[in-house]
Amino acid sequence: MYDELTGRYAFSCPARGEVRVPLSEFRVLERLPGTAHPAVYKVTFACGCGEEHEGLVSHDELDWAPLGASETSFLNLMTSRLEPAAGELVDLAARRIQAGSWPWSFFCYPEERPRPVFPSAFRLLSPGGEEMGVAVECPTCTQTSVNLVSRAHVDVPFYNDARVAVVEHVFAHDREHALAAFRAELFSGSFDARRRDLAA
Ligand SMILES: [Zn+2]
Ligand SMILES: [Zn+2]
Repeated sequence: MYDELTGRYAFSCPARGEVRVPLSEFRVLERLPGTAHPAVYKVTFACGCGEEHEGLVSHDELDWAPLGASETSFLNLMTSRLEPAAGELVDLAARRIQAGSWPWSFFCYPEERPRPVFPSAFRLLSPGGEEMGVAVECPTCTQTSVNLVSRAHVDVPFYNDARVAVVEHVFAHDREHALAAFRAELFSGSFDARRRDLAA
């Protein structure tokens, strides 16, 4: 469940009961195979108790609850066409999206261009201080890119860093292996990254 006031998702912790977690404390997102209507994601998150736990979030909740609705809505990223969505906040979000402002974006390294994205395309997030690493599976080319971004870039819809650091590496399609290797790399904080403009 998502709390619009705090911008946090509710999960359960074996030690603390219900905990509320911002997107930036997510660590791993995996779509559960065999789920479609809605798709369900298994989220590994960093809990305030110091441990990592797993929780489940539906696709709608992941992508649309931060925009003001967990109602059904669907955006086709290939055509940028937005299907009807309920609620005023969603209408507002839809207008902003149609005007070319995206709730989330990232720099696709294989394509060398910024791309709009939703949180369900996030695969890994690294813990960070000022900057955090985000591995994003591009909805257009399906390749995974890694950007170093601010927390607000992840947590605040429609806030996008003007410039982000991009890790100059094309990750193999052997995803399980690539992501495991990448996770180790990301968490150690050792990689080469260059700044790219995200804002048009
Ligand atoms: Zn906990
Ligand atoms: Zn791409």
